[in-house]
Amino acid sequence: DFDVRLPYIGKDELGELSGSIQKLANDLERLKNERNEFLASIAHELSTPLTYLIGYTKVAMRKEISEQAREQYLSIIAEESERMKELVKNLLDLAKMDENTFTVSKEYFGAQTFFENIVKLVGPSFEMKNIKLILLCENNFQVHADSLRLEQIVLNLLDNALKYSKENTEVTLTVRKKEKKTIISVIDFGIGIPTDEVEFVFEKLYRVEKSRSRSFVGSGIGLAVVKELVEAHGGSIEVKSIYGNGSTFTVTI
Ligand code: ADP
Repeated sequence: DFDVRLPYIGKDELGELSGSIQKLANDLERLKNERNEFLASIAHELSTPLTYLIGYTKVAMRKEISEQAREQYLSIIAEESERMKELVKNLLDLAKMDENTFTVSKEYFGAQTFFENIVKLVGPSFEMKNIKLILLCENNFQVHADSLRLEQIVLNLLDNALKYSKENTEVTLTVRKKEKKTIISVIDFGIGIPTDEVEFVFEKLYRVEKSRSRSFVGSGIGLAVVKELVEAHGGSIEVKSIYGNGSTFTVTI
């Protein structure tokens, strides 16, 4: 026979305990839902460009189409593939950040050449939407950052600026030095973000107004990755936006 003596648990403590168990169960349920939502959004995100890729590849393979049309299809295929590569890169980074196996290796490099190259890279996508991309970079100074990561940060911000801009507008990328810090701003005159939603845009999976989001391809992870990358540099990011008029994202590293 065992003499089991349970410690005395008062009514209040029992209530508290069952409350915490309930809370734990709710948290688990919420995590499960978030994970499912996340997977569904990633699957959607990858399957949309894949559908295009398959379609355009099939058309490009047809014998009867003109060489000019074929070239056009191939360039769409190349561009869509690039976007998918970026998305997968963001996802991998997010996973690494969660495991804390993520590192940045800082180096010094010239600001002007670095940002000019980024502008060259994204130039064609801006031209396609007739949006003027302007680079204002302070005279040659050195940036201290992980250049690949910084490229990823700026590309993500430019990608959003382009995506949420109206045709025939401007996007400005400004880069300046303040004391030992580099301040980078991406300014657009796009659809903007409602004031009460601004604080959430850096959260994983967050997308402004579900209904409006449907008309823009996106997963709501770009800015979460940007924020983590900036913070891994010991820097900060902020956003100012006027709903309907445009947004400015500013990174300080
Ligand atoms: P997404 O893949 O949906 O663009 P992000 O994490 O990059 O995901 O952005 C989160 C949300 O913030 C977007 O769904 C969008 O509603 C809003 N957002 C981000 N950048 C801008 C911008 N430049 N202008 C307006 N809204 C933006």
